[in-house]
Amino acid sequence: MINGSCHCGAVQWRFDADPESATSCNCTVCRRYGALWIYDYEGEGVHVTGPTQPYVRGKALAFHFCPTCACVVSWRGLEANKEGRRRMAVNVRLAEPEAVAHLPIDHFDGFGAFEDLPRDARCVRDYWG
Ligand SMILES: [Zn+2]
Repeated sequence: MINGSCHCGAVQWRFDADPESATSCNCTVCRRYGALWIYDYEGEGVHVTGPTQPYVRGKALAFHFCPTCACVVSWRGLEANKEGRRRMAVNVRLAEPEAVAHLPIDHFDGFGAFEDLPRDARCVRDYWG
């Protein structure tokens, strides 16, 4: 299990599993936020508590941030899928560094081909280096 908190502490997330990797995406939003994402479904592997402000991007998802300290907490699908599950990701930059430092980075080309790029041996710790 991994926990994250915004800087002021008003918003918390909990990720129940041990993620295999964290995703760095180069899309027009993620590259500005500098977020690193781990994914699951809302209320299943990932839980967020506390008030968040959404920034709706397109028709698929909204980014959520703390209205007090402005930390980027999560993104959340705008609609549930056919099974009623809602895709969600939380930002591992809100976790304690030692809890996530070992996670390999997956590079997602959200700006271009919209697919994963090859891994390059970088881990979360390299982003804090
Ligand atoms: Zn906050």
